[in-house]
Amino acid sequence: MAITEPSFGSDSAAVTTTAVLDGDEWVLNGEKIFVTSGERSSHVVVWASVDKSKGRAAIKSFVVPRDAPGLSVARLEHKLGIKASDTAVLLLQDCRIPKDNILGSPEVNVEQGFAGVMQTFDNTRPIVAGMAIGLGRAALEELRGILSEAGVEVDYDTPANNQHAAAAEFLALEADWEAAYLLALRATWMADNKKPNSLEASISKRRPVVPVLPFRSRPSSSRAATATRSDPCSRSGRAIRRSSTSSKARSRSNS
Ligand SMILES: Cc1cc2nc3c(=O)[nH]c(=O)nc-3n(C[C@H](O)[C@H](O)[C@H](O)COP(=O)(O)OP(=O)(O)OC[C@H]3O[C@@H](n4cnc5c(N)ncnc54)[C@H](O)[C@@H]3O)c2cc1C
Repeated sequence: MAITEPSFGSDSAAVTTTAVLDGDEWVLNGEKIFVTSGERSSHVVVWASVDKSKGRAAIKSFVVPRDAPGLSVARLEHKLGIKASDTAVLLLQDCRIPKDNILGSPEVNVEQGFAGVMQTFDNTRPIVAGMAIGLGRAALEELRGILSEAGVEVDYDTPANNQHAAAAEFLALEADWEAAYLLALRATWMADNKKPNSLEASISKRRPVVPVLPFRSRPSSSRAATATRSDPCSRSGRAIRRSSTSSKARSRSNS
């Protein structure tokens, strides 16, 4: 799907790519960035405005064959991760596609806004959630290993408030992760079964970010090694901000 442009990302109502009807063809012009599978896909769904004077209601999605005249890959991004998918910059220069390749109605309904194109996210958001859930799970397992090295074992048979603060934090993060996983399954099941899932799909994409947040403030490896010996909590950004009131926890963290 090609929505993002050099001038915007989150604000998907700011599309500047245009689509003009010329006889039996749409003529598309614009630049799209960060297009996942933009090079290897057979077709790309492109968001473009059919009438800029009518604002976001005029944004429509179009199915553009990769070999359509006027569509080219300008470059591929060199990413730090997600290496299994390519991320392309696409140029649309008088790109011609058949008139029927518009998704939905070409009519511009200002009352409806751009709810029509936004519905395309209902299927893609749970997939993005799936990636984040995999990352979140890996982050949790990494954290479990770090805690274990520091002598903190997560005990599923003891109440969280009777465990080391870092173990209790781990259990809270794992509960967040489980909730995110179940919601993504639900959003995906609803999409598969053609049930309206905009709410579930949106939340499912946002939710799995939570378990990964502690790793943002992770220290460098040398500092981390020192920190682990003196304070097992300090390698978890969230855990370090909480102090345990239990004497058992205090004695463990000082060991
Ligand atoms: C690997 C990868 C694959 C991608 N694949 C695709 C794709 O297939 N198709 C496609 O069209 N796009 C794709 N994108 C683009 C992606 O959708 C955008 O990166 C995303 O929309 C964010 O836009 P941005 O990077 O310009 O960040 P910005 O929109 O500039 O946001 C920067 C920061 O500001 C925050 N922010 C933004 N607006 C607000 C606000 N109103 N209030 C508060 N905070 C705000 C954001 O949360 C973020 O933290 C991809 C991106 C990546 C990294």
